[in-house]
Amino acid sequence: MRILVTGGAGFIGSHLIDRLMLEGHEVICLDNFYTGHKRNLLKWFDHPYFELIRHDVTEPIRLEVDQIYHLACPASPVHYQYNPVKTIKTNVIGTLNMLGLAKRVKARFLLASTSEVYGDPEVHPQTEDYRGNVNTIGIRSCYDEGKRVAETLAFDYYRQNDVEIRVARIFNTYGPRMLENDGRVVSNFVVQALRGTPLTLYGDGSQTRSFCYVSDLVEGLMRLMNGAHQGPINLGNPDEYTILQLAQAVQQKIDPSSEIRFEPLPQDDPRRRKPDITRANQWLGWQPTVPLQQGLDYTIADFRARILDPEAASGS
Ligand code: NAD
Ligand code: UDP
Ligand code: UDP
Repeated sequence: MRILVTGGAGFIGSHLIDRLMLEGHEVICLDNFYTGHKRNLLKWFDHPYFELIRHDVTEPIRLEVDQIYHLACPASPVHYQYNPVKTIKTNVIGTLNMLGLAKRVKARFLLASTSEVYGDPEVHPQTEDYRGNVNTIGIRSCYDEGKRVAETLAFDYYRQNDVEIRVARIFNTYGPRMLENDGRVVSNFVVQALRGTPLTLYGDGSQTRSFCYVSDLVEGLMRLMNGAHQGPINLGNPDEYTILQLAQAVQQKIDPSSEIRFEPLPQDDPRRRKPDITRANQWLGWQPTVPLQQGLDYTIADFRARILDPEAASGS
């Protein structure tokens, strides 16, 4: 099959491309390199089945493909809040363009949506039929509301134009290749501990998240794309931790003497988050297999190599 991955030079996209290439598909990666990087794809550059196109999804493009994994969008609050209007454009116009493309070439279209559509949830754990508690005018809204519109667009293209859609609601995912300056919590803590600087803990650390290792997530995305259900489907690891527990786990693994520095909690920071994955389990036979302790070890090894020896680590 010929498969388009938008945002394929980023963290999740590049791991997905590795899997698709190993399965023998032709892969086109489309990325504007805002938070993605060519080094994540170096190993495929000379492969005849791989093509990399520098392109912004907010501009139309004509390609011939069988499947589209639409991941293009910065995922870290630091990066999506840097230019919020651009984030909305990416989610709305970018998704519209990719759905228009899917319609024209009759490709199956998978949207990388997010647990952020639930906002600061009043239902715990979050099931797919929960409609969310999202602030329309806050600093996270460009991303949360952008993804909600993206989901709406997908379902309207399905109802109006028979586009085959798949919608994944991805919960916090971590692993190798996250940027050192990504800004999300796992990479921040690991980089800070490795560099011997204080771990920046926002609020009192009692807020919770549930962290999914990237290989598990990619497996879920591929099962969803190739299965019979359009979703939305939660994909995430239901093991829930407070952010303080995460800081302590990183401390223990890297440097028990590293300092924790408490900083203000950002506006609209969700209090609790944990996926109900009953649907993914029943519909896709999917559940995560990598526990946090193990996933953290893999992630720390990758950051250690990059921070201590940037040359040797490129293309890992
Ligand atoms: P990432 O920032 O590493 O990857 C995003 C990629 O999209 C980057 O390569 C970036 O350069 C590219 N991009 C951004 N705007 C673009 C545009 N306008 N045109 C073309 N390319 C553009 O983030 P990630 O963690 O790999 O996330 C991938 C997708 O998964 C995103 O859609 C994100 O919303 C979704 N998601 C991720 C998580 C997570 O925890 N990692 C959670 C929920 C949802
Ligand atoms: N589009 C695209 N590539 C294609 C087909 C469409 O980028 O191969 C864009 C197109 O430019 C438009 C969007 O997708 O902005 C929606 O396309 P659709 O055909 O659904 O709507 P229309 O063009 O009729 O407004
Ligand atoms: N967080 C933190 N220190 C950091 C980065 C994040 O304490 O250096 C907190 C953040 O306030 C949130 C949680 O960790 O409560 C997860 O943040 P992240 O940006 O990784 O993801 P999201 O908030 O989008 O789930």
